[in-house]
Amino acid sequence: MPSFATHLESAIDGSRHPIDRPQTTHEGRPFWVRYDLDAVARHLDRDELAHRRGGFWRFRELLPVERAENRLSLGERTTALIPCKRLGDELGLRQLFIKDESCLPTGSFKARGLCLAVSRALELGLKRLAIPTAGNAGGAMAAYAARAGLEAYVFMPADTPLVNRAEANLFGAKVTLVDGLITDCGAMVAAGTEPMGWFDCSTLKEPYRLEGKKTMGLELAEQLEWTLPDWIFYPTGGGTGLIGMWKAFAELETLGWLENNSKPRMVACQADGCAPIVRAFEAGERFADPIEAATTQASGLRVPKAVGDFMILDAVRASNGSAESAPEAELIPLMKRASALEGISLCPESAACLSALKRMVRDGRVQPDERIVVFNTGAAQKYPDLFDPDLRCLAPSQLPDWSQLASNP
Ligand SMILES: *Cc1c(COP(=O)(O)O)cnc(C)c1O
Repeated sequence: MPSFATHLESAIDGSRHPIDRPQTTHEGRPFWVRYDLDAVARHLDRDELAHRRGGFWRFRELLPVERAENRLSLGERTTALIPCKRLGDELGLRQLFIKDESCLPTGSFKARGLCLAVSRALELGLKRLAIPTAGNAGGAMAAYAARAGLEAYVFMPADTPLVNRAEANLFGAKVTLVDGLITDCGAMVAAGTEPMGWFDCSTLKEPYRLEGKKTMGLELAEQLEWTLPDWIFYPTGGGTGLIGMWKAFAELETLGWLENNSKPRMVACQADGCAPIVRAFEAGERFADPIEAATTQASGLRVPKAVGDFMILDAVRASNGSAESAPEAELIPLMKRASALEGISLCPESAACLSALKRMVRDGRVQPDERIVVFNTGAAQKYPDLFDPDLRCLAPSQLPDWSQLASNP
C-alpha cells in the first residue's frame, strides 16, 4: 500500500515541495507533510483501527512511510492514558489523566519522532544521520538508527544527564559532548553536514519527526472514543509534540472522525530558566527571541531557540490556550509528589505542566470538572542526578519495633 502523503508544504509561506527526496527546511523554516485525506477517508474507517496492534504504525495511512519494510519498530505500544484520582484530588480536579510516554523504547516520547524520521531516512536511502539533542532525542535516534543499520552521530551538551550520554553510546552512536547548549550542538551538526555528508535530524529541520509526534494526538483521540479533552498540558522545548498534536486534530476533523469538533486548549509549559515561548506569548509576538543563559533541571526544556516557534504559538493561540512558565524550585518536588501519589514515573519536564495546572486551577482558569490531559514525556529513571544521594532510605534501626507491635496489636 503506498503512502497517502502527497507533498511537503512550507509552514512559513505555503509553497509546495516534493516529498520523494530528502528535504530539510525552506527559508530556514519547517515543512508540513500533506496527505490526500479524502483518499484516506475512503480507504480507512476509524473503527477498523480497533482491530490493529498498538504502536505508531496502526496509523500508517496518516504517516509518510511508503513501504512496509521501512517501518521500523522496537515493539512500541499505545501508551496508557491513566486516570489520576489521587493527584486530581490534590489539585482540585475531577477528570485528570496522564498520558504516560515513559514506557516507549528508550524511555521517552522522543521514540515517536525518531522512529518516523529514521524510517523515512531509510526509505530515502540516507546512510548517515546526525542530531543535536538536549538528551532523549539522541538516545532515540541512536536506537532506531541501530535498528535500521544507519550510522548515527549525536551531539549533546556536556552536562546532559548521564543516562542520555550512556544510552546513545550503548546503541552504537558516535557521541560528542559539547561545551554549550543544544543550539551550539545544532551549529556543529550544521557545520558538519557538507564535509561529513550526514543528514541533519534536528527538531523540525527534517519533516518527519513531527509526523511521529502527531501519533500522540491520534492515540489520544482514539482512547477518548473520538472526543478530545478540554485542556492539554504539554512540556515544550522544540514544541514538536504540541504542533504535531494540533496537526493530528486538524486531520481528524477533516477526516470526519471526531464525535464533535471541539478541540482542546493547548498549554505550552516551560521552566523559568528557559521560557522563550512563554515570553513571546505574553508579548503577543509570533516569533520568540532566543534565551541567553538557559538553565533548568528539566533538560528536555532547555531549548533556547525553537525553529518552529511560530508554529507552537499559532497552535496555542488558535486553541485559545496558554503558555506558562514554572518556577524551577517547584519542579523536583512536584515530580516526586505526583510520582508518589500515582505510581507513574514522572519526568521533571512534566512537572512544569503540573506547576502550570496547579496555578491555573487556583486562579480559576481551569474548572474542577474539565477534562485535563497532562503528557508525561519521559521516565524519571533517566535523571539519576536529580535524586537525593541517600534517597532518604531508612536504616533497619529506624523501623518500628515489630516484635513489640506483634505482641500489642
Ligand atoms: C524533548 C523533550 C521535551 C520537549 O519536547 P519538544 O517536542 O521538543 O517540545 C519534553 N520532555 C522530555 C522528557 C523531552 O525529552
